[in-house]
Amino acid sequence: MGPPGAGKGTQAKFIADHFGIPAISTGDIFRANVSQGTPLGVEAKRYMDAGEYVPDEVTNRMVRNRIDEPDAAHGFLLDGYPRTLAQVEELDGMIKFTGHELDGVVVLTVDSEEIVQRLLQRAQTEGRADDTEDVIRRRQEVYVEQTQPLIEVYKERGVVHEIDGLGEVDDVTKRIFDALEVVRES
Ligand code: AMP
Repeated sequence: MGPPGAGKGTQAKFIADHFGIPAISTGDIFRANVSQGTPLGVEAKRYMDAGEYVPDEVTNRMVRNRIDEPDAAHGFLLDGYPRTLAQVEELDGMIKFTGHELDGVVVLTVDSEEIVQRLLQRAQTEGRADDTEDVIRRRQEVYVEQTQPLIEVYKERGVVHEIDGLGEVDDVTKRIFDALEVVRES
């Protein structure tokens, strides 16, 4: 977890690679659907372009289908999900059903001005439709309103690892691996 631009996607791949599990990014799945013009993509795009969350029902169904895939049978890392309380509850139900457990929640903490700068930079290099300045600010607001409170929910369960997300990518990865007590082969 962490605000948009905290580096979740980048770090998610490293963690998933290490554990040999898929990194399931709801944002990536939505973007793939948008570019393929599927009905899901058409629906999601309206919300994404405005910096709003795609409705829970749509998002939950998509995640449920994805973790049903064979490659997720032995575990998975979620990137960008859950983002609302309804999604937390849905995820609880899903993992109970599959017999998995929630091993940990990695929260990347970053300064908000640094984030806006990162996102503006990404807008130049990747040209994402939701990386304009107004949308960036709206996405930060939505995160604070809807997603930040979930950190407390997970803290009460004792599964949260709060990691300083500022600095070089490699340093952040090391902090995460240290927190997860991962032995890294270099
Ligand atoms: P991301 O790449 O994770 O920043 O996600 C990009 C956009 O996809 C978000 O701004 C939302 O519009 C949508 N999205 C991704 N994950 C979720 C989610 N868990 N719930 C609702 N909308 C989501």
